[in-house]
Amino acid sequence: MSHTHAMTLLVFIVLGAIGGIIFGWYAGEAATSISWLGTLFLNALKMTIIPLVIASIISGIGSLGDIRRLGKLGGYTVIYYTITTGIAVFIGLLVVNWIQPGAGVQLTQTSVPEHILEKQGTGISDIFLSLISPNLVSSASQTQLLPLIVFAIIFAMALTTIGDKSKPVFALFDGINEAMMKLVIWIMHLAPVGIFALIAARLGSVGGGEQFMAEIKAVGLHVVTVLTGLFIHTLVLIAVMLFIARRGFDYLVGMARALITAFGTASSSATLPLTMECARENRVDPKAVKFVLPLGATINMDGTALYEAAAVMFIAQAYGIDLSLTQQAIVFITATLAAIGAAGIPEAGLVTMVIVLTAVGLPLEGIALLLAVDWFLDRFRTTVNVWGDSVGAAVIDRLT
Ligand code: ASP
Repeated sequence: MSHTHAMTLLVFIVLGAIGGIIFGWYAGEAATSISWLGTLFLNALKMTIIPLVIASIISGIGSLGDIRRLGKLGGYTVIYYTITTGIAVFIGLLVVNWIQPGAGVQLTQTSVPEHILEKQGTGISDIFLSLISPNLVSSASQTQLLPLIVFAIIFAMALTTIGDKSKPVFALFDGINEAMMKLVIWIMHLAPVGIFALIAARLGSVGGGEQFMAEIKAVGLHVVTVLTGLFIHTLVLIAVMLFIARRGFDYLVGMARALITAFGTASSSATLPLTMECARENRVDPKAVKFVLPLGATINMDGTALYEAAAVMFIAQAYGIDLSLTQQAIVFITATLAAIGAAGIPEAGLVTMVIVLTAVGLPLEGIALLLAVDWFLDRFRTTVNVWGDSVGAAVIDRLT
């Protein structure tokens, strides 16, 4: 897509997002009647994810030539992801200790939803177990990307060991990848309308602007804490973009279509196709686009990690439980792992937070405090998740 074309589309996407806020704010419930337009856009994006992820990873690894380069690429990627996620959690802990949003919050008697209670027995071992799927088709049908990515990597590695026989297979996946990216460009043109509808319908479903403000006020300081933390982390990532990846602000503008889609969909997985296309247009090296971004959309979630740490501390404060430094260190580690384990789908972070709460012995009922505003904060943390992946791809492009 040409630069002018991309910028025009960006303007329409921004207008769509702003229009969605205004329409949902004032129309309230009525705005939900257009939710199908948002679903249409979302479904179109989701439709591309499975073939795109599998083809891009296999063709990406194929293009490396020497399999030893995969070790370097993978190594840098994992190190980058771990460090930035750690920084995010650290910022979350700093901000929540500073603002103390939970102090004096009224505990309510709302019950915890079933889907969260079901996760009660979830431990860190489950995150490792989720790497390998016994049934790829069933994983694909549930859009569980991580086991598919692991499979694609192992499969591509196997291909590199079979000599000439691998050539047509790599060429096939390369072709599939190219065709999928074309499809993504077409779907991108639905974004202005799709994002308009997604935002308007979501805001409408909580009853419009006034209702929404009332909900926010109930846990206002929690919202302020999370947004402050996410803002600081965004600045850190901008610094990384400028000084490590050596990219200017045009990179941020170039990625904006994906970032606004992340805000509109609250799903890094659904946004992934657009993240890849925007990175490609910004001349990020294909190996980083094809390998770093799919992995990032699944395991690199800076916003979610920051959120989990801040939210758990908020719950502790609300219950008047003082967490020692050692316990905060446990929050640090488990929040990082819980963010890795969270799927790139709406409100997944709230579910994996069970792991963090259990690790430090906090009541799961605390989650009920956060339910009303989670959908809202989810959009901001998803945007930061996608921004973290985008900067990651630019960094890895520079380092490898
Ligand atoms: N919705 C987030 C994402 O897709 C995950 C979360 O709930 O934090 O990146």
